[in-house]
Amino acid sequence: MEIKFLQAKELKKKPEDESKLGFGRIFSDYMFLMRYTEGKGWHDAEIKEYEDFKVSPAATVFHYGQEVFEGLKAYRQVNGGIALFRAKDNFKRLNNSAKRLAMPLIDEELAHKALRELIAVEKDWVPHEKGTSLYIRPNYMGLDPFIGVAAAKEYVFYIMTGPVGAYYAHGLSPVKILIEQEYVRAAKGGMGFAKTAGNYAASLIAGVEAHEKGCDQVLWLDAEERKYVEEVGSMNMMFVIDGKLVTPDLDGSILPGITRDSVITIARDMGITVEERRISVEEVIETAKSGAMSEAFGTGTAAVVSPVGEFVYGDETVTVAGGKMGELALEFYRILTGIQYGEIEDKFGWTE
Ligand code: PMP
Repeated sequence: MEIKFLQAKELKKKPEDESKLGFGRIFSDYMFLMRYTEGKGWHDAEIKEYEDFKVSPAATVFHYGQEVFEGLKAYRQVNGGIALFRAKDNFKRLNNSAKRLAMPLIDEELAHKALRELIAVEKDWVPHEKGTSLYIRPNYMGLDPFIGVAAAKEYVFYIMTGPVGAYYAHGLSPVKILIEQEYVRAAKGGMGFAKTAGNYAASLIAGVEAHEKGCDQVLWLDAEERKYVEEVGSMNMMFVIDGKLVTPDLDGSILPGITRDSVITIARDMGITVEERRISVEEVIETAKSGAMSEAFGTGTAAVVSPVGEFVYGDETVTVAGGKMGELALEFYRILTGIQYGEIEDKFGWTE
């Protein structure tokens, strides 16, 4: 399908102070958009001005949450070029999410081509300062003007972008995590592996209560037994126990993170033993206390890695490795950001 380009009437002024970009409030001039109609398939692919669009108040997404999305970044590399990181994997994951929500699949090749064209148009929006990037948000939703519980027949898929600041403007520092015992994020057979709005809606109240308790994020436990650790906030969880990298296996209730997969690949390449398996909360507490756990950290596109200094579990607060920064987490951070910003060779072929 041809992607039409519609010139914007006027271009916005780009932010001058890249230390004040923050996250998720500034959007670039253009967006990619295409529509799907049952019987007709995908149509009207275009790169056009980023602006509000008209949607029926009855639209499926507003009532029943039929929506899936992605999150990735474009990086300005040290040689001045612009790189995407594993973008094809994001579109593959989008389709896995779409399948779960009974949505028609997108053409991954077309979405990837559209993204590359959008980034070429918006290249001047990719910020320059170290640690900054252009955040990319593909979003896909059902739009039928019909209040009845059914998969929609009409959809919109769009990609919006906006410059974001360095996640670690003040350097990496360990966070305090609440192990959540009351609420659950997702059960097996549910939508946990899908990147869909409802999972985030389900997580909000726990986040609020965690902040009230002085914690930064919530570590979710499995829905069935509240016994095994799943993931944290918008990150996958990793532990270094007895020198091995241990992370919950992809059991259907956690999101298969692209950073998670990248860290596992780098670790194996470094000769580190990786175990993808169930990890009980008792194991976390006991190994943190005994010192067998030398590191705990989250992995995700936003932060890359986020070291955990303390876990709060009921009345107990347990410190990981004296609350110090983990060496391996720092090394994964150095290698991943090095590849993304073109400072070190991309031997895995992740950037394009
Ligand atoms: N889990 C959840 C719930 C997330 O929202 C994210 C962010 N997409 C992740 C894990 C990490 O995934 P990725 O490494 O692909 O950003």
